[in-house]
Amino acid sequence: MIIYGSKSVHLKSERSEMSVCPNCGTQGSLVLSVYRRHAHIFWIPLFPIGKKGLSQCQHCKNVLYTKEMPTPIRKEFNILKNKAKGPLWQFVGLAILLVAIVWAALSVKLQG
Ligand SMILES: [Zn+2]
Repeated sequence: MIIYGSKSVHLKSERSEMSVCPNCGTQGSLVLSVYRRHAHIFWIPLFPIGKKGLSQCQHCKNVLYTKEMPTPIRKEFNILKNKAKGPLWQFVGLAILLVAIVWAALSVKLQG
């Protein structure tokens, strides 16, 4: 049974008007997608680990991961990545942990 791990959440997708697909040479056919990974334990999201993404050509279906993207596509991807905001619920576990720590600290204080 898996009780911890990481999961990716889709944040944003945008068609790139300028980029040319390195596989088939079609311009404006690439769709860039940004995902944010978060660590989870017992399916409760703890905190975000980082953003990653890929592009897919709508013409030839060729998929490029960030590492494989030519510089102009990667630049455009980075702009989209910075624009994409992750959901707040990816911090839920961290918030619970903080509340637990504060609560523990307070109860120690009250006892002493
Ligand atoms: Zn293509």
